[in-house]
Amino acid sequence: MHNFSVTKTTKSRLGDVDFDVIPFGRIFADHMFIIDYEDGEWKNGRIQPYGPIPLSPALSAMHYGQAIFEGMKAYRTHDDRILLFRPLDNHKRLNISAERMCMPQLPEDIFMEALELWLGIDSDWIPSSDGSALYIRPFMIATDDYLGVKPSNKYSFMIYGCPVNAYYTSHLRIRIEDKYVRAAQGGVGYAKAAGNYAAAMYPASLAQKEGYHQLLWTDALEHKYLEELGTSNFFAIINGRLITPEINGTILHGITRDSVLALARELGTTVEERPITVEELLQAAEDGSLTEAFATGTAATLARIEVINYKGKDYTLDVDKHQYALELSEHLNHIKNGRIPDIFGWVHEVEMHTLQV
Ligand SMILES: *Cc1c(COP(=O)(O)O)cnc(C)c1O
Repeated sequence: MHNFSVTKTTKSRLGDVDFDVIPFGRIFADHMFIIDYEDGEWKNGRIQPYGPIPLSPALSAMHYGQAIFEGMKAYRTHDDRILLFRPLDNHKRLNISAERMCMPQLPEDIFMEALELWLGIDSDWIPSSDGSALYIRPFMIATDDYLGVKPSNKYSFMIYGCPVNAYYTSHLRIRIEDKYVRAAQGGVGYAKAAGNYAAAMYPASLAQKEGYHQLLWTDALEHKYLEELGTSNFFAIINGRLITPEINGTILHGITRDSVLALARELGTTVEERPITVEELLQAAEDGSLTEAFATGTAATLARIEVINYKGKDYTLDVDKHQYALELSEHLNHIKNGRIPDIFGWVHEVEMHTLQV
């Protein structure tokens, strides 16, 4: 066990929050976790009230972009247990991102103990209504104050969270990107690195001006193969087969993606992880063999896609017939909130009694 120190807030903000109407990502749980890395060691792990942190103007993360993050959720079950969904996979992915960005590895025991200690202290922030959760944002930044391009010597890893309601999305209108690039072979597309999202904002804003929610990225070389959306993975059902681009170094290895594939295989669906060309998708949309398309990610689980635009032309899908997506989504959400048994070993129950401080 690590001996993380705990400083509790003297003024909880819980009473000010109306859990029925929570604006996404703006209300923060009372506490956060911080641990610093210096001289090759993680030290001074602590829980403290959520709030601003002092920053040097020379903070290396702000200039050279060593910044990575994760996104996960804690769920309160109807019998009042707290469940995390595949947290060890978030930890692994954090370290994969860290390696690529030349940042230190965070040991699994620090990640898990910090998470559980913090969740125990802020457990009242985990909402209970259907579809709600505490969205958790673990992240790591470089904290050297040194003006010069080199890997930082100092880092901080932190965890904070936001209660969120069932993620309501209108069905997605997406545009296939044929000019800008999110990630190339050899690049950092597979890392949850802050810069990937900054680089995607401008192209996405152009699509948003024309009424599309998100971009469906294509490969950097030819814009011929489909990759993923801005913060979610892409799936299509063509001729009854569930198809998604394979993990090839440019797309993010989504935990929801992985779970959807496992669940679909379990349900006996034919699953294909392989290259999909833009042409194949559009052809299938035209001849009716594309019956469903959806995006997967922790925030929304599954978001159904209604319109796919390519070079000015809209291809519209009948989302009301997207039965398979709906079924998968409900099944997965039921596993996450403990309503149906988890045969995959995905769910991690947080032991609340060990958390008294
Ligand atoms: C986070 C993210 C996803 C989804 O990953 P999950 O683990 O399913 O939440 C997909 N693509 C990108 C680019 C992402 O940042």
